[in-house]
Amino acid sequence: MATNPESNELKTEIVVLGGGPGGYTAAFRAADLGKQVVLIERYPVLGGVCLNVGCIPSKALLHMAQIIHEAEEFEQNGISFGQPKIDLDKVRAFKESVTKTLNDGLAGMVKQRKITRVSGVGKFTSANTISVETGEGSTTIQFDQAIIAAGSHPTKIPSFPYDDPRLWDSTDALELKQIPKKLLIVGGGIIGLEMATVYHALGSEISVVELMDQIIPGCDKDLITPLFRRIKKQYKNIWLDTKVTSIQSDKKGLNVSFAGKDAPESELFDAVLVAVGRQPNGKSIGAENAGVSVDERGFIAVDKQQRTNIPHIFAIGDIVGNPMLAHKASHEGKVAAEVAAGHKAAFDALTIPSVAYTDPEIAWMGLTEIQAKQQGIDYDKAAFPWAANGRSLSINRKEGITKILCEKTTGRILGAGMVGTNAGELIAEAVLALEMGADADDIGLTIHPHPTLSETFGFAAEMITGTITDIYIKK
Ligand code: NAD
Repeated sequence: MATNPESNELKTEIVVLGGGPGGYTAAFRAADLGKQVVLIERYPVLGGVCLNVGCIPSKALLHMAQIIHEAEEFEQNGISFGQPKIDLDKVRAFKESVTKTLNDGLAGMVKQRKITRVSGVGKFTSANTISVETGEGSTTIQFDQAIIAAGSHPTKIPSFPYDDPRLWDSTDALELKQIPKKLLIVGGGIIGLEMATVYHALGSEISVVELMDQIIPGCDKDLITPLFRRIKKQYKNIWLDTKVTSIQSDKKGLNVSFAGKDAPESELFDAVLVAVGRQPNGKSIGAENAGVSVDERGFIAVDKQQRTNIPHIFAIGDIVGNPMLAHKASHEGKVAAEVAAGHKAAFDALTIPSVAYTDPEIAWMGLTEIQAKQQGIDYDKAAFPWAANGRSLSINRKEGITKILCEKTTGRILGAGMVGTNAGELIAEAVLALEMGADADDIGLTIHPHPTLSETFGFAAEMITGTITDIYIKK
């Protein structure tokens, strides 16, 4: 690494802009392939939104929610623990300890790989230079190739009073500063529903307002229904097809006005979480100085090798398009690093699985039924009810479904979806089946351990091949 401390200049083969799951994976892979790497991150810790204010802390809190619900629900089966006593400081400390362990692990791996880390906000100043504001002045990094992994930020609805601390985005919600008595969640997508699960367990009265006619739009309705039925009983309100027309700060709370068939004209809440999607950060990295094209929303278009319109500059993760998921970003990060190191690599994954870590969880991959219909694909479908699965009943749950879609002519798996406990873990088998070109026979003839929830995937395939014995289907 060429350094010139007096003029704060660094020279490197590869610079990675952004230290989230996409960026650090790209940096690590490039270093492992023998490249000199500089990794720029604006925050003092690596891991980005996912590790610090997203996937990981939310999963720690969702685990707490699961314990509370399971303990509560097992009362009818003979075990009672009484009301949970919540020590918010300790819950927060647990969440932070999980994040810190992973932060420390990443920092250690940066050192092991001899990657140069620069802390500060980086912006392109030309097609071969990035300037980083470090807090102690600026550092200029001259690079041969760059990988942009600068992520996204929460979408804001312009007229909302964001200076009011009772109006939250997902980062605020994860801080766990207080438990509002009445919490409104604007947006019935993945973030909204995961945080609803957490705050409901902590004792908040939850209302959800969703613009579309179903929660988690884009996912098949039959997979949503078991979750919807459960939360409809738990939450105070779920207003679909409804818009928030205004939010006013009031002494007593946030006064929210609605337009929708079932919602009231207005209602007062102690806190409001806005979770209506995320926007790419393409417009704030000086891309124009490098000649990298950014569209009007802030996305950067790339080819299958993750190259932007400037061949030696790559982009990965949320900034290149939906779905904005960590596992997509890290996969793309490896592709970009390998291509930059001269390897023949390309993004050719057949699917990127989606998971909502709600209770029950919902996971899906490949084609949804909505997409199969839109594309005019002839498919066979089977949906195995978890009410007929011993393991599901033994964990006191019976609402789950495992659904599989197979191509009519070949029997090959096209898509799968699951709703139920641990659906997010179970979907991985379906992803592998799709990647391997498995058909319903392959899946049905695979011996699944008994008694497990994983059997439901085999059973769904057996429903397609007509060999199922675990339920009776009239011929
Ligand atoms: P999302 O797109 O999943 O959901 C946003 C929801 O808000 C949608 O249902 C949308 O119809 C609704 N909406 C939009 N405008 C609205 C309005 N004005 N009023 C009411 N509803 C409105 O977005 P998110 O939940 O904010 O998550 C952001 C991103 O982060 C997504 O790309 C998501 O996939 C990702 N994420 C993933 C996970 C996971 O994989 N488990 C967890 C959290 C976030």
